[in-house]
Amino acid sequence: MKNHEIATLFGRIADVLELKGDDSFRINSYRKASRVIADLTEDIEKLASEEKLTDIPGIGKGTAEKIVEYIKTGKMSKYEEVMKGVSEETITLMQIPGLGPKTVAMLNRELGIVGLSDLENALHEGKLKGLFGIGDKKIENIIKGIELFKTSQQRISIGMAYPVVKRIIAGLRNNPEVKDIQAAGSLRRMKETVGDIDILASGTNGASIVESFVSMNGVTQVLASADTKGSVRVEEGVQVDLRVVKEDEFGAALQYFTGSKEHNIHLREIAKKKGLKISEYGIFKGEKKIGGSMEEDVYKALGMNCIPPELRENRGEIEAAQLGKLPNLIELSDIKGDLHNHSNWSDGTPTFEEMAEHAIKMGYKYLVVSDHSKSLHVANGLKDDELLEEIEEIDKLNKKFKGFTLLKATEMDIKADGSLDFLDNILEKLDVVVASIHSGFKQEKEKITERMIAAICNPYVNIIAHPTGRLISKREGYEVDIDKVIEVCAETGTALEINCYYDRLDLNDIYCRKAREAGVMIAISTDAHHIDQMWMIELGIGIARRGWLEAKDVINTFSVDKLKAFCMKKRK
Ligand SMILES: [Zn+2]
Ligand SMILES: [Zn+2]
Repeated sequence: MKNHEIATLFGRIADVLELKGDDSFRINSYRKASRVIADLTEDIEKLASEEKLTDIPGIGKGTAEKIVEYIKTGKMSKYEEVMKGVSEETITLMQIPGLGPKTVAMLNRELGIVGLSDLENALHEGKLKGLFGIGDKKIENIIKGIELFKTSQQRISIGMAYPVVKRIIAGLRNNPEVKDIQAAGSLRRMKETVGDIDILASGTNGASIVESFVSMNGVTQVLASADTKGSVRVEEGVQVDLRVVKEDEFGAALQYFTGSKEHNIHLREIAKKKGLKISEYGIFKGEKKIGGSMEEDVYKALGMNCIPPELRENRGEIEAAQLGKLPNLIELSDIKGDLHNHSNWSDGTPTFEEMAEHAIKMGYKYLVVSDHSKSLHVANGLKDDELLEEIEEIDKLNKKFKGFTLLKATEMDIKADGSLDFLDNILEKLDVVVASIHSGFKQEKEKITERMIAAICNPYVNIIAHPTGRLISKREGYEVDIDKVIEVCAETGTALEINCYYDRLDLNDIYCRKAREAGVMIAISTDAHHIDQMWMIELGIGIARRGWLEAKDVINTFSVDKLKAFCMKKRK
C-alpha cells in the first residue's frame, strides 16, 4: 500500500509551506489530507482505481489529482515544486519531536541553523536560551526529541527484533481468528539489522486480530489501530506493525512484504514476460486472479521453485530457482551441538552441569566447553594446570551422560605476536581447539593476516572464532585479508565460525558463501556465556542460510564421532 508514502508527502508539503510562511489555509488542507490518508484502512491505490478518492472526507479534486499522479508516475510535481530551495537537512530537522516548522524557521532566521549538527552546536553553546521565549523546559524537550529521533533512525539488530517477533506471533496464535501469521520484511530474510518489524496475519475478523495485537503484554504505546492494521511500540522500544489480509491473499502479500525490493523487481520483470501480474493481492492473468493464497503459488506461476526468504536478495537465487538448482539450506534441526561456549571456569556463568542440561533440553548430542586461555586476563583465562583440571572434571562428568558428550576444548588466544597460548602437549589432550584474536586489533593488514594464518596452520587448531572481529554498528573488524584466510583454511581443513552472538554475526552472509564456495567448513557457534544465550544459534542459522549453506557444509551437523574425526584428521 502506498498510503503511508502519500501521507508523508502531503505532511512534508504542509511542513515546508509553513516553514516558508505560506498561507495557513493551504497549509491546513495539506496537513488534513496527510492525516486522513494515514488513518485510511483501505488501500489508496484501490480507491484511486475506482475513482473514489474524492469520497474521502478532506480529499478535494486537486488533492485527488496529485494522488493519482503519484500512483501513476511515482512523482508528485507539487511536492517537487515546494521542496525547491529547501535542503534535505532542514526537512530532517522538522521531523525531530518538539521542533515544528515554525521553530525551525525561527532557528534558521535567527541563528542560521540549517541541519541537526548546527542545532546540536547551538545547544552546546547555550545559544537557544531566551530566543523568542525559549526556556529551559523547551530546551530539555528539544534535547529529548533529538535523542528519540536518533534512536528511531537506527536499524535494530536482529538479536533484539527476533525474540520480540517470536513473542508477538506466539501470543497472536492464541486468537482463533488468526488463520496464518508470519513475520515479513528483512526480519524474515534474517538480515543482521532490521528497519521496521512487520508482521502479516490472515483472517476474516481483522478488528479482533488487531485488538489482540494492540492489547498484548509488552505493548507500551498504541500508535495506530484500525480494522486491518495496527502499529505499536513495545517495551524493547521498537515499533511493530501488523497487517491483516484475507486468506486468499496471504501468500501473495507475504511474498510482497518479505522483499527484498531488488528480488521483487526481478520477479515482476519475469512475470511481465509471461503475461502475468503479481501484486500483494495475488497473481493475475489479465483481470483473472489465478493464485495468491500460498506464497509458493507466486513462484510456481513464474515457473520456479519457492525461494527460501533468506536468499531473496537478487544474488542469483532467481536464476538458480529457474534451473531447479536452489541449495538445500541448512535447518535448525540439523544442528547436533554448539561448538563455542564459556563456563564459570572463565568468564561465563554456568557450571558444566547447567550447560549440559540446557544443551540436552535443546536436543543436542554434544556441547563444546571452550573457556578462554591464559593471556586473556580480563576474561579469567585458564592457565595450563587449570585447563588440565578442567579436562579431568569433564571426563568425570561425561561418564554420567547417555547419548550426550561435553567436548573438551579451549578458546585459545592468538597473541599479538602471532604465537598461541598453549603448547601442543596441552592441545593434544583436547577434542576441539577454537582459536581467536582478542588483541592487537589495530595491527596492519599484513601482520594480522600473518598471525591468523600461523594459527590456521597449527595442526591442533580446528575452528577460527569470530574471524573478522567486527561488532555490528559498534566496531569495524580488524583488517584481516579474509580471502587469504579462506584459502588457507581450505588447504588445511580448518573451519571458520559463524559467531551467533547478536552483535557479532561474524562471519557474515557474504563471507560464508565465499568460504563455502572455496570448500571451507563452517562452525555455527553461539559463544554463549550464559545458558540463556544459547538460543542465538537460531540467528546463526539465519546467517548460514543467507550464505547459501547446506547441512553438509557445517561441522556441527556431524555426529560426535564424525566431528571428532574431523578434528583429528588435521593432527595426522
Ligand atoms: Zn572470543
Ligand atoms: Zn568466546
